[in-house]
This record gives sequence, C-alpha cells and structure tokens, in this order.
Amino acid sequence: MHANIFSPALCHVDLGAVRRNFSRLGAASAIMPVIKSDAYGHGLMPVADALAQSGAERFAVGTAAEGLALRAGGIGQEILLLLGAHGAEEWQAAAGNRLTPLVGSFEALDAAAAASPVRVAVKCETGMGRLGFRRDALPLLLDKLRHMPGVTPVMVLSHLSSADMPEEDAHTREQIARFEHMSAALRSVFPGISRSLANSAATLALPKARYEVCRPGLALYGGNPFAGTDRENLCPDLEWAMSVSAPVLEVHSLAAGESVSYGRAFRADRPMLVAAVGIGYATGFARALSNRAAVLVNGRRAPQVGRVCMGILMVDVTDAGPVQPGDRAWLLGGPAAKGQKAVDAQELAGLLDTIPYEVLCLMGVTNRRVYA
Ligand SMILES: *Cc1c(COP(=O)(O)O)cnc(C)c1O
Repeated sequence: MHANIFSPALCHVDLGAVRRNFSRLGAASAIMPVIKSDAYGHGLMPVADALAQSGAERFAVGTAAEGLALRAGGIGQEILLLLGAHGAEEWQAAAGNRLTPLVGSFEALDAAAAASPVRVAVKCETGMGRLGFRRDALPLLLDKLRHMPGVTPVMVLSHLSSADMPEEDAHTREQIARFEHMSAALRSVFPGISRSLANSAATLALPKARYEVCRPGLALYGGNPFAGTDRENLCPDLEWAMSVSAPVLEVHSLAAGESVSYGRAFRADRPMLVAAVGIGYATGFARALSNRAAVLVNGRRAPQVGRVCMGILMVDVTDAGPVQPGDRAWLLGGPAAKGQKAVDAQELAGLLDTIPYEVLCLMGVTNRRVYA
C-alpha cells in the first residue's frame, strides 16, 4: 500500500488509543466505526482489525473498493458503503460480497434491484443538503421497496450537518424530528431495520440521536468535535491516535541577518541554530503553516521558521538543547517534556483555518505508517 512513499517521515498510529476511544463511545454493538478514507489516514485494515478485536459488529466505509479491501483482509462484519455503489459492476460486487451500499435515489434502488439479492441501507435527506431520499419521496420509496423482494433494507440513516455547533441546535433538532418521521415510516413496513443518525458530535452530546447505531469517525481517532466550544468537556479523555515524526537532516548556525528558505520569509535577528527536518508540503505539512507552527524537539516546542518546502522544513532549535542529524522532530504528538504540550491536529487545523479531519487524512495517507 505504501510502495510509492519515499518520505523519511513516519506516521505513528496507536491502535490501542483507537480501541480505547471506541470503548469510550458506548457499547460495541451500538457503534459502527466510520473508517472511510483509509480510516481518516490511520490505515483501513489495521484499524478495522483492531476494532474487530474490540467487538465492532459493523463498519462504515465510503466506497465499494474499500469494502472489498476489508473483505479481502478477512473482515466478516457488516460493511456499509456510505457513498453507495455505482454501476452494475459495483452492485454485483457488493451483492456478491455481502456489502451494504447506501441508496438515496430511485436510480440507485433500481440498480440494487438489478443486482439482487442485495442488502441496502436507506439514506434519508433531513437537512444536510447532500445525499438521500427527501420526505416527499417516501410513499413511492415504500411502494417500490415492498415490490423488490431481493432488496433487503437493513438500516435507515441520515447525516447531521452541524451537530458539533451548539449555535445550530435548532437545525439539529429539526433534523432529528425529520429523521424520526422518515425512519418510523420505513420501520412500519420493515420493523427489523435499525436506525443510525449520530456522528461523533451527536454520539457524545445527544443521547436522543443515538438510536440503535452510532457512526462516530473523528472521536475514534481522538478528535473532539466540540473543541473550542462550551461542550468541549463532554468527553475529555479522548486520545489522539496519530503522531508524525521526521528526522533532523542537518543542523546549522545562522548569523544575525541571515535568512532561511525560499523567499527569505524568515531572517535571524540574532545568532541562531536551525535544524532542517525531512518533511514538507508533499507529505501533509501544509506550506500555509510556514512561520506559524511549533515542532516538538527534545520534548520541547520549537518554532518552525521560513517557508515550508516540498520535503524539508526548518526549525529554530537555538533553545532546544542538543540536536543532531538523525534525531526525530515531532510534527504531531510525540513525547512532550514536563510542562510542554505536544502539537495536535486540532492546533494545526486552527492555524490552517480547517478541521482536524483534513490534517489527519493528509498526513496519514502521505507518510509511511508504523503501528503500536
Ligand atoms: C464521515 C461520516 C461520519 C462520521 O463523522 P464524524 O464527524 O467523523 O464523526 C458519519 N456519517 C457519515 C455519513 C459520514 O460521511
């Protein structure tokens, strides 16, 4: 899987942390871990195996290709395809491998019927404005499903657009009410199907939205969907599972007035010691972080200085204690000295005006992963 990764940086994944986060979110039977996009960069198969050992009974991925990879890796649990199946070939593969695609349109339903027998999950649109059947499609949907004996609905779900934003509570309540209505209609015809609405934020904050199955993603990997809000202490002990380190390549002294890296965007205002570290924007450390982020060296925060390059960035190690080529610098996580705090994906996301999901995905899929 990583044959094309030549970067000397390493993405360290603590599967124990993923498992502990999983158990913090509720009973194993009530949680469907979301492991799409290579488990948010943490590695599809290793994360699935770890959570299967913790008792996970189902998984949610994005694509049929991900579902097939799980089957090839020996995962026998129920697997939902959140992006559905596309084209006759994917539908056949889904049916043949007992994968459960989402259906959110009549076109998808017809494709399912053509590939039947097949299991499906019915996606309802309740206010995300993205995928799924609208409320006014319900009568026709129920009528069609009744006449498709080979298409077995096993779950009904919808997705919340802003459960992590306390100021959007009214919208979230509205989504829950719409889901309540639509799922009840489906369950009046198919009483056995389970309901799933909650992402990480709702799993943590909205007991009413948990229904039979919750679908957390971010929280499994240690992210707090409420970071920076008054709900941030709802689950204070989530642990980040990903750390990223890169080797120090060289250490140089700079005289006052000398500049660092492209564009001379950093100039030493005093004699300094600067380390070149082997990671850059090609492997997930965004160039927009230039001159803004901290890097953990010897357990202490040191400022990143100058423009981040493709495979190198520079760190001011003047006050970092002894540093030599081969030492590891930590871009995310890593062992922090007493009184020091490691950098986490939330912090980098804040600097980049993005969300930790994006930081984890980019760093995780572009660097070689090692597991603990
Ligand atoms: C990604 C995703 C989730 C998980 O969301 P988190 O915010 O990471 O908990 C749940 N449901 C669907 C449909 C998703 O696409």
